[in-house]
Amino acid sequence: MPTALYSLPAEEAVVALARELVRIPTVNPPGSEAPGARVVEAWLRECGFETTVVPYGEGRAHAVGRLRGSGERPGLLFSGHLDVVPPGEVAWQRDPFSGALEEGRLWGRGACDMKGGVAALLVAAREMAFSPRLRRGQDRSPLRGDLTVAITADEERGCLGAAALAQAPLFAGLGAALVAEPTGLDLFITEKGALWLQVEMFGKTAHGSMPEMGANAIAAMVDLLACLEREIGAGGSLRTGVPEHPLLGAPTMNIGTIAGGVKPNVVADRCVAELDFRTVPGLPNDDLLRRVEALARAVAARRPGIRHLLTCRATCEPVACPPDSPLATALRESVRAVTGDEPRVGGVPYVTEACVWVPRLGMQMVICGPGDPKIAHQPDEYVEVRQLAQAVEIYRRAAEQLLL
Ligand SMILES: [Zn+2]
Repeated sequence: MPTALYSLPAEEAVVALARELVRIPTVNPPGSEAPGARVVEAWLRECGFETTVVPYGEGRAHAVGRLRGSGERPGLLFSGHLDVVPPGEVAWQRDPFSGALEEGRLWGRGACDMKGGVAALLVAAREMAFSPRLRRGQDRSPLRGDLTVAITADEERGCLGAAALAQAPLFAGLGAALVAEPTGLDLFITEKGALWLQVEMFGKTAHGSMPEMGANAIAAMVDLLACLEREIGAGGSLRTGVPEHPLLGAPTMNIGTIAGGVKPNVVADRCVAELDFRTVPGLPNDDLLRRVEALARAVAARRPGIRHLLTCRATCEPVACPPDSPLATALRESVRAVTGDEPRVGGVPYVTEACVWVPRLGMQMVICGPGDPKIAHQPDEYVEVRQLAQAVEIYRRAAEQLLL
């Protein structure tokens, strides 16, 4: 990275840094985030952070930096990821990895989700390392709590990178996580959990002309799925007895895949389906798992020769943060001051790395970042340059409110 980049004014630095990151293809799979992690680490080191590059498999790595405070206040985590989804089959109008700057936008895969957000966190981190100290004429950091920056690999396949990184002893004393995923600078203070289940039904094979000699695993699966569907209301919402969440609505279920049987004239002895449940606070994933297990057990019990097996493929608990928490308050006030608008406070139905940080490390969370969330994962992805600069200022103000 050219050294001049470190000393650019914030609004120029954030664009240059976002552009540099977009030009590093970190398509997951395979990820190949290590070059991006080195850029992040170099930036943070130059800004005076204690830094670590944490290897994560072949060609992959996370970058973590910490600016130590006095410990009087809980620390703040700046959270972002480096990997991006593939450009897809649809032709782009601009090269997905050129980082074109046109029409007041930075274009490219990851510009919105979320290299723009990562660059804004990094420049705000620089401002926190230098400007409060300079303003106060001190030569030591006046922070009263640590500022930790964690830029991860392997988020797009279910936050696997952050889950591994959270085991490292790098995150003690943190009280809040600011996740810079694209929100158009609105605040998302809660997110749904996800529970992916593989359900298998095992039966007994027999000749198709004598089905009474066998036990049909497909029929048992149809029975179970029908039972699950009966628990589902309009729009795929589960009738769980848990009240609708004011920001997230009802939990949902999607039957994603199903496979079973070999030939028309053979009784199928195995059928497998994959289910994707999205849960809300008040419905822990384990409770839902027990309900599905009970339904599957009941189906197997009323069908002689049928066994079932439930395997949890992925689980992320739903998370939420009180709207009047110090983190949400600091961000709301900062957005208002910087944009002049009252940010919308909402929730998201998908999973971010907050689902790792909040349950494992016990902290508040808010998702707030530059870029329209509807643009994420789309062809011709972009982020508004203006929002990048605004995000830097919002993060800096919020961090000062929490840490100074
Ligand atoms: Zn993302």
